[in-house]
Amino acid sequence: MNAPNKSGWKPSAPLAGDTESATFTGNRALMLEEPLIFEIGHIETTGVDLPEPQADAPSRLGGLERTDTIGLPGLSEPECVRHYTRLSRQNYAIDLGLFPLGSCTMKHNPRLNEKVARMPGFADVHPLQPVDTVRGALEVVSELANWLITLTGMHSVAMSPKAGAHGELCGILCIRAALEARGDARKVVLVPESAHGTNPATAAFAGYEVEDIPATAEGRVDLEKLKARLGPDVAAVMITNPNTCGLFERDMKEISDAVHAAGGFVYCDGANFNAIVGKVRPGDLGVDAMHINLHKTFSTPHGGGGPGSGPVVLSEALSPYAPLPFTARGEDGTVHLVEEENAHEFGHSDAFGRMTAFHGQMGMFTRALAYILSHGADGLAQVAEDAVLNANYILRSLEDLLHAPFGESGPCMHEALFGDQGFAEGLSTLDLAKALIDEGYHPMTMYFPLVVHGAMLIEPTETESKAGLDQFIGALRSVAERAKAGDEGLKAAPYFAPRRRLDETQAARKPILAWEGELAPGGAAARSEVGGQ
Ligand SMILES: *Cc1c(COP(=O)(O)O)cnc(C)c1O
Repeated sequence: MNAPNKSGWKPSAPLAGDTESATFTGNRALMLEEPLIFEIGHIETTGVDLPEPQADAPSRLGGLERTDTIGLPGLSEPECVRHYTRLSRQNYAIDLGLFPLGSCTMKHNPRLNEKVARMPGFADVHPLQPVDTVRGALEVVSELANWLITLTGMHSVAMSPKAGAHGELCGILCIRAALEARGDARKVVLVPESAHGTNPATAAFAGYEVEDIPATAEGRVDLEKLKARLGPDVAAVMITNPNTCGLFERDMKEISDAVHAAGGFVYCDGANFNAIVGKVRPGDLGVDAMHINLHKTFSTPHGGGGPGSGPVVLSEALSPYAPLPFTARGEDGTVHLVEEENAHEFGHSDAFGRMTAFHGQMGMFTRALAYILSHGADGLAQVAEDAVLNANYILRSLEDLLHAPFGESGPCMHEALFGDQGFAEGLSTLDLAKALIDEGYHPMTMYFPLVVHGAMLIEPTETESKAGLDQFIGALRSVAERAKAGDEGLKAAPYFAPRRRLDETQAARKPILAWEGELAPGGAAARSEVGGQ
């Protein structure tokens, strides 16, 4: 049942769901089907041998002993190991291949970072341990804080926010506290069209009215329109730089000057700091607050829901309002944890509150510091250069085939942006992305930013080799040619993945997260019912 296609492309292997080539097991060579653990586990098996409880032994559970079965699937150790190993092989990972997701910076995670983060002195500390027993960990937080301040040219940093969006909220709350302190109840936050979606969400969550600022035809903030909208009701402007069109906002200093002159603050979304680290200091551009995604710029495995870490660097004007707790070096030379009880000793009585119960993500702090120190100043600047070089290589290698809406706006930063203009009627960015799965790649970010029709945002990261980029470009050219030639076969892609097209909206809106079946007494019967689509 090969789908008809005009370009003559044919899948070179049997198609999933093709009954003629279906296998007995549902496996296709090394692509193994794997049912849910509840479907293969059963109540009579356990991976451990425990002695039968003595019937006449007095219970020490005070009447709390379980009266019915626990409802967990039992597997032997080899079954259990196989289950999770099989599942792990269905993952796509940065350690398997290029990860072209834009606005995400899927970095290689140097093993050195992992080794350092797992050292027991860092990995096993507890946030409620007496400060005297965690001085080394506090030194790490403080040292990292110093580097973040140095790299950004800012005045201070709030280390506790746990993701980019959390950092945005922290920055906006600092801005609100600063405005309240001067008795200025401004209501509006301006967000350019090209901003990341978390920006307007953050401003709205903090109680502000959000207003759009349009982009110019070349994909940057429209400076004149922004200036025209500034006034006594504008609390802040939130600008992503480099922006989500992959472009550097060249007018940043002029924007900041205008916002400050109108009495507002400048929030910069620094999630894309990756592209400018070691090259540009946001502090020199007049930024008042900016979050840094440690999990993007400074390498921590992320995706799939965590972990994140979003320290916020602050200007002198906002520093007094930074949330507790934070680290500060005392007059005795040691690093202290500044909390409610000692904040006044460190001249910090105006904190707006706190973002988290404790001090942030220790594992990510150690990874980020290891990354920064092992790269050094020259290495970090080279990270930015290579990230930008790789993205421009992709942009220029594809722009003859794929529509590059801002190809004329000069070099891109760390990500290349394309649109679906020129695709044959009825074929979309989604079809192209699905076909990329057959080529062995995780798709790029799709339909974002919103300012470009059928957007494809591609970020290769700096560690990809030229050979790796060339292969990816070859795959993308092949599927792009098919999309332009009207190859209807694209509509049914992917052909070779364990699952074909899923209802992604349904999966996101109504995820089924609980097992509602009955645990089988023996696993074999359950197993025969699974597999296939
Ligand atoms: C990733 C990203 C964010 C949000 O960061 P999270 O850690 O996912 O909350 C905000 N802005 C931009 C530009 C981003 O790329």
